[in-house]
Amino acid sequence: MDQTLTIALSKGRILKDTLPLLKAAGIEPAEDIFKSRKLIFETNIPGVNLVIIRATDVPAYVELGAADLGVSGKDVLMEHGGEGMYELLDLDIARCKLMTAGKDPVEPEGRLRVATKFVNVTKRYYAEQGRQVDIIKLYGAMELAPIMGLADRIVDIVDTGNTLRANGLQPLEEIAYVSSRLVAGTSAYKNKHHMIQPIIEKLNKAVEAAKETEVA
Ligand code: AMP
Repeated sequence: MDQTLTIALSKGRILKDTLPLLKAAGIEPAEDIFKSRKLIFETNIPGVNLVIIRATDVPAYVELGAADLGVSGKDVLMEHGGEGMYELLDLDIARCKLMTAGKDPVEPEGRLRVATKFVNVTKRYYAEQGRQVDIIKLYGAMELAPIMGLADRIVDIVDTGNTLRANGLQPLEEIAYVSSRLVAGTSAYKNKHHMIQPIIEKLNKAVEAAKETEVA
């Protein structure tokens, strides 16, 4: 029986919140991830490895079985489509919202121009409302698009709303609530269930415990 397990973690803001949860589930990297330039880390459990990759790359690794488990934001999962994987647990970290925003809630005449890096989510959102829009794919600094007259709306992640406000934009419609999720590849879930199930249970307990301390 295959006793190895590879967990793909998103680097950046999610990682800082993910490691304490993994620790509570009994998994700790063998060295300090933040002090190393390595991409693959062994853990205290022989055969269990962590790979640290860009958030948007996690679904590909999990879907195609290069990683067995992954931690990914719901925004990234929605944009990817979630094929080939199961969403096992809401880790309740990196919470934020996917929203539309603009300079003015009043919509201009004609087709709305929407700038975003979440092209698939944006297409689906407006299509569900029967609204025809022109989507402009951007890779960063979405807030600039309405200011520069490139777009009427943006679709982006909003946490405190400070970034929008600082750029003279307002949050308008909420598309989705976002937090980080534990995902498993469909074949890994089947073939490595004996290794994955205890991790889900321990992570679930750690998430519940974190919620309680937050309320207290
Ligand atoms: P804020 O100014 O607090 O609304 O934060 C907005 C910016 O921070 C967005 O443009 C995002 O790029 C980033 N951000 C905030 N929260 C998250 C999150 N949970 N996941 C990914 N990016 C985030």
